Amino acid sequence: MGIESQCGLKMLFFPLMAHGHMLPMLDMAKLFALRGVEATILTTPANAHLVQPFVDRANDSGSVPGPMRLLLVPFPPDTGLPAGCENLSSIPPEEMPNHFSRFIDATEKLRGPFGGVLRELLPDCVVTDMFFPWTYDAAAELGVPRLVFHGLNLFSLCIADSFDRYRPLERLSAEASSLVIPGLPHRVELLTSQIPSFEKATGGLARGLQESESKSYGVLVNSFYELEPDYARHYREVVGRRAWLLGPLALCHGDGHDNAGRRDACLEWLDSRSRGSVVYVCFGSMSDFSAAQLREMALGLEASGRPFVWVVRKGGKEWAPEGFEERVGGRGLVVRGWAPQIPILNHPSVGGFVTHCGWNSSLEGVSTGLPLATWPLFADQVYNEKLIVEVLRIGVSIWRNEEDRGDDGVVAAAMIRKAVEELMGRGEDARERRRRARELGKTARRVVGRDGSSYNDMSNLVIELVDKKAKQFK
Ligand code: UDP
Repeated sequence: MGIESQCGLKMLFFPLMAHGHMLPMLDMAKLFALRGVEATILTTPANAHLVQPFVDRANDSGSVPGPMRLLLVPFPPDTGLPAGCENLSSIPPEEMPNHFSRFIDATEKLRGPFGGVLRELLPDCVVTDMFFPWTYDAAAELGVPRLVFHGLNLFSLCIADSFDRYRPLERLSAEASSLVIPGLPHRVELLTSQIPSFEKATGGLARGLQESESKSYGVLVNSFYELEPDYARHYREVVGRRAWLLGPLALCHGDGHDNAGRRDACLEWLDSRSRGSVVYVCFGSMSDFSAAQLREMALGLEASGRPFVWVVRKGGKEWAPEGFEERVGGRGLVVRGWAPQIPILNHPSVGGFVTHCGWNSSLEGVSTGLPLATWPLFADQVYNEKLIVEVLRIGVSIWRNEEDRGDDGVVAAAMIRKAVEELMGRGEDARERRRRARELGKTARRVVGRDGSSYNDMSNLVIELVDKKAKQFK
């Protein structure tokens, strides 16, 4: 099945309202629309500005037989969240611990409106976020299959399954500083200090997510078979669930992003740098570094001597070392807030990516064939670092043990300088890393093209859903 006429399927996409979840699900909806699926995206009014321009551009492009559509349901009132807060990415990082569960509780109140949308639209299938387990029941009541989207890769899903299946934390001694994850295709050892809190949770949300997932039709994954073949097998045979690997989803935009043709000042700055010379440093949409840590980063980047683009979320300048911007001016660009990451990564002047290992960023780095320097902050980012550094061997860790950080948890400038030198260097290891990354980038582009593995996985799913629908009407 290729880019053809409408295939008669209606799918409803309902992402968690957070950049890292909405962007890939929008891309996924567009890819289904390109296969002739009528793709409707559901969100709340304050998020419409993120979706509507995307939908309009897709429809106006003339390449989407779908078409795509946006539907809105009101965000529940009286949630205990700041007024107007309908997106996790708009919560200041320091407020996140308080507000995350409030946000998830609020979304659960969308069950009634979601059911109303289902009854009206009668889709053939829904794709909903992992954090919306209740959508399974609402869909099942109407006989609509639910596919789950996590925003995670299969490596992370297999680790989560191992925690659940073998319960290694129950046997972990209080003195242990690390833990080997049992039953995986590779030896994966985590620092106990880095084990995400959701792996320690056994009830409540964690249990609900697992249960609803095991009943769902399967999972859609922003990854590709060639990136993690051992984990695709493990997920099927050991975890025992169905997965369709459809990524890298962001490649549906080609080399740029869906930015309506704007040319950013940062890209113009990159035009003036030499090929492969610049290190791009960005820690996603939710990082919250202390002023002391930002200061060490600044000093480390300065000491590396490399040109850099560094995205800093924190406002103000109090963290900047004395005279920093004057000293690095011309060689380094500090971008405040938000940068056009995908076009930056695709710019020929960029030669390496310092990342927090959010899965979207990691996969964007993989897709552009860049080597990575890794600094995971929380959640699955810790697993993604293992995949990047130890399994795929396309990255270097910025810090490895608790001893690599000071008493205050701050990573010193010297560690950052060293990692940037390793990443961008000319030594044998760096060259091999770069070669592997380049090869993987080529593979990533191949798999989304006609008859690539991700292209075929999507075709197979669409055909299966069309068949399923046809049988219902026999
Ligand atoms: N992103 C961006 N510009 C920024 C920061 C992030 O375009 O300045 C995009 C990035 O390309 C990625 C997403 O935001 O697609 C971040 O998702 P990820 O899973 O990497 O991290 P999260 O923000 O969820 O921690």
